[in-house]
Amino acid sequence: MNFETSEVTEQIRDAAKNFAEQHIRPHVMTWDETQEFPVRVFKELGKLGMMGVLVPEEYGGAGMGYFEYKVVIEEIAKVCGSIGLSVAAHNSLCTGHITTFASEHQKQKYLSKLATGEWIGAWGLTEPNTGSDAGNMRCTATKDGNDWIINGTKNWITHGKSGDLAVVICRTGEPRTSGNATAFIVEKGTPGFRGGKKENKLGMRASETAEMIFDNCRISDTQRMGAIGEGFRQALKVLDGGRISIACLALGIAKGAYQASLKYSKERYQFDKPISSFQAISFKLADMATEIEAAELLILEACDLKNRHENVTKLAAMAKYYAAEVAVKVANDAVQIFAGYGYTKDFPVEKYYRDAKLCTIGEGTSEIQKIVISREVLRD
Ligand SMILES: Cc1cc2nc3c(=O)[nH]c(=O)nc-3n(C[C@H](O)[C@H](O)[C@H](O)COP(=O)(O)OP(=O)(O)OC[C@H]3O[C@@H](n4cnc5c(N)ncnc54)[C@H](O)[C@@H]3O)c2cc1C
Repeated sequence: MNFETSEVTEQIRDAAKNFAEQHIRPHVMTWDETQEFPVRVFKELGKLGMMGVLVPEEYGGAGMGYFEYKVVIEEIAKVCGSIGLSVAAHNSLCTGHITTFASEHQKQKYLSKLATGEWIGAWGLTEPNTGSDAGNMRCTATKDGNDWIINGTKNWITHGKSGDLAVVICRTGEPRTSGNATAFIVEKGTPGFRGGKKENKLGMRASETAEMIFDNCRISDTQRMGAIGEGFRQALKVLDGGRISIACLALGIAKGAYQASLKYSKERYQFDKPISSFQAISFKLADMATEIEAAELLILEACDLKNRHENVTKLAAMAKYYAAEVAVKVANDAVQIFAGYGYTKDFPVEKYYRDAKLCTIGEGTSEIQKIVISREVLRD
């Protein structure tokens, strides 16, 4: 395997890095404190092609591959996990689902708006009573002539209130039967569809997470994506790509926390020595560096498989599981290295610590990733 990055990938990395330093870093703590979801930032990222990294150029996207996508999410997450999460969810869930499964007409209608950041996308699978057990959803779509009527609630949805368009997976068959779900595209402003409660979160506070409520929401059958009954299978495929996104998000957070710790350990003196000279600290840095490197290799392998359109279920779950756990551990060690200062909001590591935890939860918990991985290895 050769993961040497191309010149184009490095140019994209520089663009994402410069954008994050100039337009995100100065506001990170204000957005975090106030839970502001800074819509204008996503519009600007759209102008740079970063809201449609994987969307083919013919639909207004950047037409890039997973290596380029990785560096975009990673560089943004190094500076702010929340913005990284929103960019990841927009690209890989909503936009990814439409790119992969929509009809030609639907792609023409929606993809360029999403890829340019003119519209922000949401993707609704999770419900109040069904998270890991998403196949047991209660939100229903019932056929009525040439229309469908959607009823139910999706929760924990990234951009559930501010999204201009949502992909929503609804139950169209009997509970607990296979092939009982179908995916639909619902535009903001459709009667019977509204955003609900916005969550007040531990971390990722500038990424909007909210309910989506459907109350006799009538949509045309032309808004259905793919065949009736294919929705859950489509969602699992979308999540394969989504898990690579969350792995990249975790990698960025881990690198941000590590880089801050490395610098601080050389600047902070105790007992007349930089704290990096104490083995207790330098070994932490050694563990952090090693685990980040290992996580990155798993992610690169998953990106490579995805670029080659090969089955990525096992590698995406491994990359997501490992990188998420590494991010939590590295952020925890970072707070320990900063100690008292790390426990304050004047230094960046407390935010990495809060943000990192989401990576072990969103798009399938670490426990669910282990179920996916064990199922795959037992099949081998
Ligand atoms: C910030 C944020 C953004 C999100 N964005 C979106 C989004 O855009 N769209 C969307 O659809 N969803 C979204 N989610 C939802 C997310 O995907 C779910 O929270 C996640 O899948 C876990 O579901 P749950 O929270 O209901 O936990 P539960 O499923 O209730 O799990 C609770 C605990 O039980 C464990 N558990 C459950 N089942 C098993 C099992 N079979 N074996 C072993 N352990 C098990 C879990 O690992 C966990 O530790 C988001 C969540 C957050 C926090």
